[in-house]
Amino acid sequence: MNASDILIFNARVLIMDGHQMRASAVALAAGKVLAHGEDADILALADDGTRVINAHGRTVLPGFIESHLHLFTGAGELGHLQLLGIEGYDALCHAVREYADKNPELPVIVGQGCDYDVVGRSLSRQDLDAILPDRPVCVLAADHHTAWANTIALQRAGILEGRSLGPGNEIVIGDDGLASGELREFQAKAPVLALAGAHRIMAGLATGKDPDPYPTAQEFIADGEIMVQGLEYAARLGLTSLTNMDGNPYTLRILEHLRTEGRLTARVKVPFHYASGSTLADLDIASQMARDYCDDWLSSGFVKLFMDGVIDSGTAVMIHDYPDRADWRGEPLWSEAEFAAIATEADRRGLQIAVHAIGDGAVRRVLDGYEQARVANGPRDARHRIEHIELIDPADIVRLKDLGVTASIQPIHAPGASDFPLQPTLNKIGQARWGDAYLHRTLADAVIPLAFASDWPVADLNPLRGIQSALERPVYEGAADERLPLHDILAAYTTGGAYATHSETRKGQLRAGYLADLVILNGDIETATPTEIGAMQVDMTICGGQIVWEQDSAF
Ligand SMILES: [Zn+2]
Repeated sequence: MNASDILIFNARVLIMDGHQMRASAVALAAGKVLAHGEDADILALADDGTRVINAHGRTVLPGFIESHLHLFTGAGELGHLQLLGIEGYDALCHAVREYADKNPELPVIVGQGCDYDVVGRSLSRQDLDAILPDRPVCVLAADHHTAWANTIALQRAGILEGRSLGPGNEIVIGDDGLASGELREFQAKAPVLALAGAHRIMAGLATGKDPDPYPTAQEFIADGEIMVQGLEYAARLGLTSLTNMDGNPYTLRILEHLRTEGRLTARVKVPFHYASGSTLADLDIASQMARDYCDDWLSSGFVKLFMDGVIDSGTAVMIHDYPDRADWRGEPLWSEAEFAAIATEADRRGLQIAVHAIGDGAVRRVLDGYEQARVANGPRDARHRIEHIELIDPADIVRLKDLGVTASIQPIHAPGASDFPLQPTLNKIGQARWGDAYLHRTLADAVIPLAFASDWPVADLNPLRGIQSALERPVYEGAADERLPLHDILAAYTTGGAYATHSETRKGQLRAGYLADLVILNGDIETATPTEIGAMQVDMTICGGQIVWEQDSAF
């Protein structure tokens, strides 16, 4: 046997092989797991060139797999005003003014993570005018589906009088006939964000095609530096594989460039975003991306779409009326026929499909499309996915199973589980349906493949906080207890993510021959309380046998 490059001993190694196999040591060589076992046997694999690490009883896990994030957008937003946890007008006012003073050069003050009920109700442009009347301000809800802008921002973006937009998108108009300040969905907020210069970090959300105009060589380099900040942040959090949920060929070119510079510190999968306005012929781009990028570091091979919006703004598509709004069920972004045609064509090309579907009506429409694709093309190991599934009709759970659909779930999104409050979400759903909302255990019991994620920058990228959320989420009145045991949650962040990307034979476990992607935590995750897990840190992240993050003086 060859000598090891890196060897970790005196550890609690969770192999994640599905049978709770453990070891106290693991050796890595040539980018792969060489062996795991007892300290004495594994230490024998060291030679002079081996870095031998005493883990002092800390947990070693396969590198976390983040199954749904927006890497470029998140990276670009690291410097924005962060409003998560800010409650009430005074606190909002203080935060906005302080940030504005510190950043006098910014064309727009952009805030992230604003609560829908931050001032006890939805914000108006007048609320924001009172805080900062003479500079454009735009604050986004944590879910990124809704934004609120002040008058000068709306004016400069040319949307104060409103504008007609595609289905599901809305510049809300107030009683005075002018924009109220609330901007629902991507097309509504895009003009203000373009003013902020945020159009390039949003490019993959706007289109699966290359940005138009195409970024200059200088912008390309600058975008690479933004991406690196996101990659460094991910490495610190122990994420070794990232499934991006927006993208175009440009996104992959930036990552490819970083790879040639030796700065790609995680494996990234990037979809073709089939955005509104795309045509079936555009799937040629998706197929080309799949051919161009298909190794363990950079890959594509899937198509991402949105079917609906979010519950809080009433843009999630429901089977029944919203309890607070008669005759309103949300507006699907694709008709049944349109979506079935897209799904069938993408599936025929051998592409995987991932669709954002939050309401039970959206989930059903996506399943209908997947079913039609299967009828048209015949069954295959497609592993199409549905993202979020915040509400599902019980009759559709078995359809997830029958169609082999992976449920891509964000435990930190469940109201009351962590940063997102119970309201207005639970009232928008209505108590009669709480039992069908934010299902984890019910889906696991139905043997639906689960992949856990954050949807960063919608929520905290930290998987340890995601694990905490999944462990201690509230039990909604009248609903089942949806909390999962720790090992099932860890699986959804490792093997589940690997399965969702057709790479379960290469990653997500620490068996010999698997990719050398692992993390060393700063404690023992199995004896820690949920709160302690959320506060744990990653002492070392190794991706492809390379140390991509190491906490100072941890070893
Ligand atoms: Zn997303």
